[in-house]
Amino acid sequence: MNIRTRLTLLFVLLVASIVLLFTVSVYYLYDQFREQEFQQRLQEKAFTTIRLREDVGEVPQADLPVITNEQVTVYNKRGVVLFNQGNQRPRFPVTPDFLRKITLRQPQYIRIGDLEAVGVLHLNSRGEVLLIVASGNDRYGLTKLDRLREILFSGWLLSLIIVGISGYLFATDALRPVAELITQVNAISATNIHQRLSVGRQRDELADLARTFNDLLTRLEEAFVLQKSFVSHASHELRTPLTVMMGQIEVTRLQARTTEEYEVAFDALLDEVKSMIRLVNGLLELARANSDIVTLNYQPVRIDELLWQAQSLIVSKKPDYEIDIDFDNLPVQEEDLVIIGEESLLQTAFQNLMENGCKYSPDNRMSVRILFMPGKIKLTFSDHGYGISQSDIAHIFEPFYRSESTMTITGHGIGLALTQRIIELHHGSIEVESTLGEGTSFRITLPTSSPLKKQVLLTGEPMSSNSQ
Ligand code: ADP
Repeated sequence: MNIRTRLTLLFVLLVASIVLLFTVSVYYLYDQFREQEFQQRLQEKAFTTIRLREDVGEVPQADLPVITNEQVTVYNKRGVVLFNQGNQRPRFPVTPDFLRKITLRQPQYIRIGDLEAVGVLHLNSRGEVLLIVASGNDRYGLTKLDRLREILFSGWLLSLIIVGISGYLFATDALRPVAELITQVNAISATNIHQRLSVGRQRDELADLARTFNDLLTRLEEAFVLQKSFVSHASHELRTPLTVMMGQIEVTRLQARTTEEYEVAFDALLDEVKSMIRLVNGLLELARANSDIVTLNYQPVRIDELLWQAQSLIVSKKPDYEIDIDFDNLPVQEEDLVIIGEESLLQTAFQNLMENGCKYSPDNRMSVRILFMPGKIKLTFSDHGYGISQSDIAHIFEPFYRSESTMTITGHGIGLALTQRIIELHHGSIEVESTLGEGTSFRITLPTSSPLKKQVLLTGEPMSSNSQ
């Protein structure tokens, strides 16, 4: 059932119930009023009849009958009929119990079908107790009541039809902006993702919805553009070394070369291939870290050991690089050195920062400082190198971004993007501070106590994560 039908039905149901309640109340109250009025008339009839009979000795015919099927019966205290006035058909069936209940203050009322009767008590001049029962049909009153019932019922039905139609029109009108939104949303696809929904001048929930959807579209568009530029950047980065290699091969093949010349050419080719492998590995790691379903093998890792390993790996590849590792303070207990993470990813992140520090410093030196704090470890990777300009700082974590000033130094621009993602995956943070010509510091904070760590330490089992 769609919202329009549901709204219409709800509206009809609500109004129908209210009108029905009102109708039934009017009918009931009118019936009460009619009954009271008729009782009053029957009482007056009873007293008038007995007074006339006592004063005049008989009841004049002109006074009868005003009430349809009117009958007045006078009983003595023991319930014996003394006098019967009016209708000659069998008397209204009065029980001894009914007569017993009649008191001076409290007249009795009874109704059998359409016939109604009132019993009153009268003390005559001789002090005798007389019980007078006046009965009859309230033909006019009941006819009016029937008519009222018909009017109320048809009025109720009519109001249902009117409410149904107006409810449907109202729901259609209220939902028109939703239908418009749906049409607009359906018109947006990958080719026109820049399009936005018109919010209108209203400040209602639907305008909020349109605005929220537009925000979502903006985020999607950004991701889309980033994805597109990522692919074109990656293709470019792969094509450049391939073109260089092709050129080198073609030049080498132009004429016969000596063994030494071939060795030089092969070394140059090998360098290009190694650079390509580094790039492809970086891309693969970035894709893995950015994937929606990252399956990480979390286990306890000692930060100091990871840093020493990263340092020795870099120095073994680039012996002219110098990396100092200093502890600002010593941890209170060994457990403070341990974080829960994926060793290979953290290793990659630390290597990137160490390598950058050396690579972008004329003296190829950098240092890592470790500070232990309650619940976290702070690592500062600093160098006294070329530094990064403020305008570049905003972009260095974007994939393939390389600052103009360092273009002459080899690199692909994906190391920092990958490092940032790895730190995010470990619930840490990374900040950069740099001054051109003076040097750069990357500050990383990693949590050492987390619910994940407690769980891993408790069970002793490595954990897999399917989130992030
Ligand atoms: P790559 O080093 O391969 O170019 P990165 O993603 O590691 O890629 O770094 C992106 C850019 O950030 C670098 O091209 C460089 O301009 C700048 N950068 C990173 N680290 C430093 C640093 N320690 N000193 C100066 N510039 C840096």
